[in-house]
Amino acid sequence: MNPKLKELADLMFPDVTKTIEDYEKMYPERNLESGAVVTRFAPSPTGFVHMGSLLSAFEDYKVARDTGGVFCLRIEDTDQKRSVENGIEGILNDLKNFDIKPDEGMISETESIGEYGPYIQSERMEIYHTFAKYLVLHDLAYPCFCTASELDETREIQELNKERIGYYGSFAKCRSLSIDLAIEKIKAGQEFVVRLKSPGNFNSKIVLHDEVRGDIEFPENDLDIVLIKSTDKLPTYHFAHLVDDHLMRTTHVMRGEEWLASFPIHDQLFSIFNFKKPKYAHLGLVMKIDETGTRRKLSKRKDKEASVEFYHREGIPKEAVKLYLMTIANSNFEEWLDNNPDKSLDDFKFDFKKVSASGTLFDISKLFNISKNYFGKMTASDIYDNLLKWTLEFDTEFHDLLVKYKDYSINIFNIEREVLKPRKDYTSYRSIRSFVFYMYDELFKDLEYDNVKITEKDEVIKILNTYYNEYMDLSDKDNWFLKVKEMCDKLGYASNIKEYKKEPEKYKGNIADVTGLIRVALTSKSNTPDLYEIEKLLGEERINERFNKYINK
Ligand code: GLU
Repeated sequence: MNPKLKELADLMFPDVTKTIEDYEKMYPERNLESGAVVTRFAPSPTGFVHMGSLLSAFEDYKVARDTGGVFCLRIEDTDQKRSVENGIEGILNDLKNFDIKPDEGMISETESIGEYGPYIQSERMEIYHTFAKYLVLHDLAYPCFCTASELDETREIQELNKERIGYYGSFAKCRSLSIDLAIEKIKAGQEFVVRLKSPGNFNSKIVLHDEVRGDIEFPENDLDIVLIKSTDKLPTYHFAHLVDDHLMRTTHVMRGEEWLASFPIHDQLFSIFNFKKPKYAHLGLVMKIDETGTRRKLSKRKDKEASVEFYHREGIPKEAVKLYLMTIANSNFEEWLDNNPDKSLDDFKFDFKKVSASGTLFDISKLFNISKNYFGKMTASDIYDNLLKWTLEFDTEFHDLLVKYKDYSINIFNIEREVLKPRKDYTSYRSIRSFVFYMYDELFKDLEYDNVKITEKDEVIKILNTYYNEYMDLSDKDNWFLKVKEMCDKLGYASNIKEYKKEPEKYKGNIADVTGLIRVALTSKSNTPDLYEIEKLLGEERINERFNKYINK
């Protein structure tokens, strides 16, 4: 080994005591079944998860589960500007709300599980420095002393001459500094970054394989990219990715397509170290079509649905969100689910080939539809249990009523549920209150009654009183209906709609007008589930109260 290089490397990294081999031993190849996939979700500690990140975390998690592999949560905090206080807890919470549980990695702001840690980059300094030192020792990296203004100047020249921007070739000034001079500058206390001495040639083409996009041709990397920054001595993303994914034995790197352009850099880094390369899948952006009809990236700033907290707050069942995530993750999932209605998400195998390379369109109305179907399949008592949890956090007034009237509430949720075509109206836990509020006297206030056909006061009084005093039969649904019809005939309303349509002038109206009136008087709504069931649950006394309330309104 060149003793000069050793002197330089020791000066640059005086604290390094281990070697790469030491780390290779500490973090051995994982002992997994063949085909098991090791993935990681690697967010910055920003305190929240964007919908696009949730999708990739979900995919990471799913593919690890499908294959009996490992899913890690690694926190990438080397860009201190992007860190916020308790930023890890926020992320963990968002993931937990969707049952995405890491097998390894951070489990709180300070704790982690797993044998391949630390799982937070700022605690891995010594490891990065060991790898960087190796490169310097082997003349594959060097200190660069260029100041910001020198770099600006280079860029201006490149722009002026219409040359490619970057630190490469003859523009890479510090590459050709003599070792002695470099040593002298460091001894004099000059700031430096560590740059890769890229062995690449921009005019050579390489073909890299992406699991989603297939083979892609790139020019080889010839940029002497920064590996270690000067101020905090933290690694750049490129270098940290190499070190971490190698030592954590990641097999599949799934990340946003914004990293596709630096794929050649990462491939080169793995080649230089002669490490086994992970497979890469660059995932398309999550887009939406906004109000103006333009397709654009889902934005945390502009779109409430971009933050995953929103789904939790709205009370969209996590199962529905996961079904939707799978729908946008794999293009064949929806059809699979249609053909296998009784199977669950766990039975479906994630397939890289079915991921859209061009980005996914996020369609919240579709999510609401999936959610409606999901509610349609739930039992009334499951709805009750989950609603109880949701309201505890987000609607205490409703929560107290649910506690007070447990069985009654379950009966409400059961209206039109255990039938061939169950009701599909709830879209979220938040929405349920608006569908059932009228069943609770405590919420049956400040009403705005929907419009009805029959409005003349004396007629309204006559119908409601006649119904209540003479025709209300809650013993069973058939009897109930027979009686309503009988009353219609008696009061001059057609009990048969067809006949009414033939000769409308013969009648004051028809049975739908009459039941419409009763419905609105009881619930304030013109559209509700089965009226008989509602009446039965309300009971005679409350029906009487509500009729009086309506008449006196
Ligand atoms: N911290 C990087 C990001 O948030 C991770 C990319 C990756 O998964 O490699 O974009």
